Amino acid sequence: MRITRIAAYRVDLPLHEGKYAWSGGKAVSVFDSTIVRVETDAGPVGHGEVCPLGPAYLPAYAAGVRAGLGEVAPALLGQDPTELAAINRQMDRVLKGHPYVKSPIDMACWDILGQATGQPVCALLGGRFGADVILYRAISQDTPQRMAERVAQYRKEGYRRFQLKVGGEPEEDIERIRAVAAELERGDVLVADANTGWLSHQALRVARGVRDVDVYIEQPCLGYEECLAVRRHIDHPFVLDESITGIPELVRAHGDGAMDVVNLKIGKLGGLTNARLARDLCVTLGIAMTIEDSWGGDVTTAAIAHLAHSTPPELRFTATDFNSYVTVSTAEGAPQREGGRMAASAAPGLGVTPRTDVLGDPVLDFA
Ligand code: MG
Repeated sequence: MRITRIAAYRVDLPLHEGKYAWSGGKAVSVFDSTIVRVETDAGPVGHGEVCPLGPAYLPAYAAGVRAGLGEVAPALLGQDPTELAAINRQMDRVLKGHPYVKSPIDMACWDILGQATGQPVCALLGGRFGADVILYRAISQDTPQRMAERVAQYRKEGYRRFQLKVGGEPEEDIERIRAVAAELERGDVLVADANTGWLSHQALRVARGVRDVDVYIEQPCLGYEECLAVRRHIDHPFVLDESITGIPELVRAHGDGAMDVVNLKIGKLGGLTNARLARDLCVTLGIAMTIEDSWGGDVTTAAIAHLAHSTPPELRFTATDFNSYVTVSTAEGAPQREGGRMAASAAPGLGVTPRTDVLGDPVLDFA
């Protein structure tokens, strides 16, 4: 099988809530997503998606996806999309770094491999564990009262795990965590995600201020060393996210005892191939995982569902259904949240069929 064409589409994804805000006053109201289509000479057509959380979150931005695809895509024409290691090696050969650029192509090649073998991607990634995957709901940064109201609302919709966007002024973040914790019941899970927004003295003040609250602290500071210092001074369970950009960082953090849970984002790691490697390493090392991406719509959500569903449940801390946050559906067949849970499709590949009317004309086309 050979790749005959790679096209990319740009889709705007507005939010049901109007905007999504996190640490440092950063916010996005319309996400700029790129969906990649990979065609073959044997019939299967694969799709992948990457959607950075705006240009100011990770070193990734939407226009950079499209510029990077211009470097990578021509070098993949004529290659076998089912040889995932060879595809990734070729992408790394022609473009150093920029894992988020490579993620949608890798995702589309897994979609093709699934279609070619008649297997859902979760089966190829290791098997389907359990009936479904437990989701968390990210709570955009707002006043403590408004965030508590949101949690109460999403609790009614079936979510039991919540990730608060903190990383602001310490006193207010303490109020945010306390206001939301008051809404929760036994069995619920609360994470306070600072998204690198605190300096270490601020993180220590917040942790001290909520010492009696059952809450996880996620990525308090920008640097790994600051996060590690905070981790060693507090007794809350601890999540690393932005600092874990690849396997060397994961191995080092495990060796340092730097986290209890790691947040694996498919785009941050460069696609399902690399995310599966990190996932399998975490399974072997006994590190629980949040399995997700930076953002996305139906195609990203499908890929998350396959990676999460093929992860043993005791190591699956939580996952994200981004397609329920956005107002535009880009594909049929994507997982739909039910009572705070979702399941990977049983159809071959990712199980999604993009809506051509929503995608419009390609913004890039290599053949
Ligand atoms: Mg995070």
